[in-house]
Amino acid sequence: MSKNVISFHYTLTDQTGKTLDSSAGGEPLTFLEEAGQIIPGLEAQLRGMKVGDKKHVTIKAKDAYGEHDAGNVMEVPLDKMPTRGIKVGDRFRAGKESYAPVVTVTKVTETHVTLDGNHPLAGMDLTFDVELTQVRGATEDELAHGHAHGLGGHHH
Ligand code: ZN
Repeated sequence: MSKNVISFHYTLTDQTGKTLDSSAGGEPLTFLEEAGQIIPGLEAQLRGMKVGDKKHVTIKAKDAYGEHDAGNVMEVPLDKMPTRGIKVGDRFRAGKESYAPVVTVTKVTETHVTLDGNHPLAGMDLTFDVELTQVRGATEDELAHGHAHGLGGHHH
């Protein structure tokens, strides 16, 4: 099975038109097809585009970072938190392991904090302006590793 490595520039905006992220002025983002490196809805849109093509697409939350799951939200007593002075927007790893999920503080009361384990962009429809800059066949190394190498890709 041959797969491609695709590079593209993007500007990500939310539903109010606010820019959340952009590759403009930097290296394009590079990914290996079918490796789950970018959100599935965007990968589907990039397929079939040619170098130089531009597209304005809106990806529904379920094809982006998923719907917001209330089961991933928990209230924790302040005295169970490892640090003081916690405020809304702070992000923590919910454990010492590097693979522990990252949670975001969404509410602070006098006694409790609310921690949200959803991705910060979960539940949001996302709009991308994309421009395809390169398509090439993946190397054997890239296929074996499951990610793209080189400019904008993975560095070892
Ligand atoms: Zn690699």
